[in-house]
Amino acid sequence: MLKRPHGIYREVLEMVIDVAKSSHPREFVALLHQEEGVIDELHFLPGTTSNEDSAYLLLHMRPIDLNICGTVHSHPGPSFRPSGADLSLFNHFGSTHIIMCMPYEMRTWQAYDQEGRRISLQIVDE
Ligand SMILES: [Zn+2]
Repeated sequence: MLKRPHGIYREVLEMVIDVAKSSHPREFVALLHQEEGVIDELHFLPGTTSNEDSAYLLLHMRPIDLNICGTVHSHPGPSFRPSGADLSLFNHFGSTHIIMCMPYEMRTWQAYDQEGRRISLQIVDE
Protein backbone atom coordinates (compact mmCIF):
# COMPACT_ATOMS: atom_id res chain seq x y z
CA MET A 1 0.00 0.00 0.00
CA LEU A 2 1.27 3.40 -0.99
CA LYS A 3 1.84 5.74 1.89
CA ARG A 4 -0.73 8.42 2.46
CA PRO A 5 -0.06 11.86 0.95
CA HIS A 6 0.58 14.62 3.48
CA GLY A 7 -0.55 17.51 1.32
CA ILE A 8 -2.48 18.82 -1.65
CA TYR A 9 -1.53 21.61 -4.03
CA ARG A 10 -3.69 24.70 -3.65
CA GLU A 11 -4.42 24.74 -7.39
CA VAL A 12 -5.83 21.21 -7.19
CA LEU A 13 -8.20 22.30 -4.42
CA GLU A 14 -9.17 25.31 -6.48
CA MET A 15 -9.98 22.98 -9.35
CA VAL A 16 -12.13 20.84 -7.01
CA ILE A 17 -14.02 24.00 -6.04
CA ASP A 18 -14.51 25.00 -9.69
CA VAL A 19 -15.75 21.58 -10.77
CA ALA A 20 -18.02 21.26 -7.72
CA LYS A 21 -19.60 24.62 -8.56
CA SER A 22 -20.06 23.85 -12.24
CA SER A 23 -21.53 20.40 -11.48
CA HIS A 24 -23.99 21.76 -8.91
CA PRO A 25 -26.68 20.65 -8.08
CA ARG A 26 -25.22 17.31 -9.14
CA GLU A 27 -22.23 15.71 -7.48
CA PHE A 28 -18.96 15.16 -9.21
CA VAL A 29 -16.42 12.48 -8.45
CA ALA A 30 -12.80 12.11 -9.52
CA LEU A 31 -9.67 10.22 -8.58
CA LEU A 32 -6.78 11.77 -6.67
CA HIS A 33 -3.26 11.38 -8.03
CA GLN A 34 -0.24 12.01 -5.83
CA GLU A 35 3.42 12.60 -6.52
CA GLU A 36 6.00 12.50 -3.73
CA GLY A 37 3.38 12.78 -1.02
CA VAL A 38 1.42 15.68 -2.47
CA ILE A 39 -1.85 15.39 -4.40
CA ASP A 40 -1.06 17.02 -7.72
CA GLU A 41 -3.79 15.98 -10.17
CA LEU A 42 -7.44 15.03 -10.52
CA HIS A 43 -8.27 12.20 -12.89
CA PHE A 44 -11.71 12.28 -14.46
CA LEU A 45 -13.34 9.26 -16.04
CA PRO A 46 -16.25 9.29 -18.47
CA GLY A 47 -19.73 8.67 -17.11
CA THR A 48 -18.92 9.47 -13.52
CA THR A 49 -20.44 12.86 -12.90
CA SER A 50 -23.74 12.51 -11.16
CA ASN A 51 -24.43 10.59 -7.96
CA GLU A 52 -23.24 8.33 -5.19
CA ASP A 53 -23.52 5.27 -7.44
CA SER A 54 -21.05 6.78 -9.86
CA ALA A 55 -18.35 6.33 -7.27
CA TYR A 56 -18.67 2.59 -7.72
CA LEU A 57 -18.38 2.88 -11.47
CA LEU A 58 -15.23 4.85 -10.91
CA LEU A 59 -13.87 2.20 -8.62
CA HIS A 60 -14.20 -0.46 -11.30
CA MET A 61 -13.03 1.66 -14.21
CA ARG A 62 -10.02 3.17 -12.55
CA PRO A 63 -6.74 2.82 -14.41
CA ILE A 64 -3.92 0.83 -12.89
CA ASP A 65 -1.81 3.63 -11.55
CA LEU A 66 0.02 3.23 -8.27
CA ASN A 67 -0.03 6.98 -7.73
CA ILE A 68 -3.82 7.05 -7.57
CA CYS A 69 -4.35 7.45 -3.83
CA GLY A 70 -8.09 7.94 -3.42
CA THR A 71 -11.12 9.92 -4.48
CA VAL A 72 -12.72 13.34 -4.25
CA HIS A 73 -16.41 14.10 -4.58
CA SER A 74 -18.78 16.94 -3.89
CA HIS A 75 -21.87 17.13 -1.71
CA PRO A 76 -24.49 19.54 -3.03
CA GLY A 77 -25.51 20.28 0.56
CA PRO A 78 -24.04 21.85 3.71
CA SER A 79 -22.34 18.74 5.15
CA PHE A 80 -19.08 17.04 4.27
CA ARG A 81 -19.95 14.08 6.47
CA PRO A 82 -19.53 10.80 4.52
CA SER A 83 -22.70 8.82 3.69
CA GLY A 84 -22.92 5.06 4.14
CA ALA A 85 -22.10 4.61 0.45
CA ASP A 86 -19.12 6.93 0.85
CA LEU A 87 -17.74 4.93 3.77
CA SER A 88 -18.13 1.75 1.80
CA LEU A 89 -16.20 3.24 -1.13
CA PHE A 90 -13.44 4.59 1.15
CA ASN A 91 -13.13 1.16 2.62
CA HIS A 92 -12.62 -0.55 -0.71
CA PHE A 93 -9.81 1.47 -2.11
CA GLY A 94 -7.37 4.30 -1.53
CA SER A 95 -5.89 5.94 1.55
CA THR A 96 -7.23 9.46 1.14
CA HIS A 97 -10.71 10.69 0.29
CA ILE A 98 -11.93 14.28 0.10
CA ILE A 99 -15.49 15.55 0.35
CA MET A 100 -16.19 19.14 -0.72
CA CYS A 101 -19.57 20.54 0.37
CA MET A 102 -21.52 23.72 -0.24
CA PRO A 103 -20.83 26.58 -0.59
CA TYR A 104 -17.68 25.03 -2.11
CA GLU A 105 -14.97 27.09 -0.49
CA MET A 106 -11.46 26.55 0.89
CA ARG A 107 -12.99 25.95 4.33
CA THR A 108 -15.81 23.58 3.29
CA TRP A 109 -13.98 20.32 2.73
CA GLN A 110 -12.62 17.46 4.76
CA ALA A 111 -10.24 14.59 4.06
CA TYR A 112 -10.82 11.06 5.40
CA ASP A 113 -8.81 7.88 5.59
CA GLN A 114 -10.02 4.47 4.42
CA GLU A 115 -11.90 3.97 7.69
CA GLY A 116 -13.74 7.27 7.37
CA ARG A 117 -11.68 8.97 10.07
CA ARG A 118 -10.88 12.63 9.57
CA ILE A 119 -7.30 13.29 8.50
CA SER A 120 -5.50 16.54 7.83
CA LEU A 121 -3.99 17.48 4.51
CA GLN A 122 -1.63 20.39 4.28
CA ILE A 123 -2.39 22.92 1.53
CA VAL A 124 0.81 23.28 -0.48
CA ASP A 125 1.64 26.38 -2.53
CA GLU A 126 3.84 25.56 -5.47
ZN1 LIG B 1 -20.87 11.52 -0.52
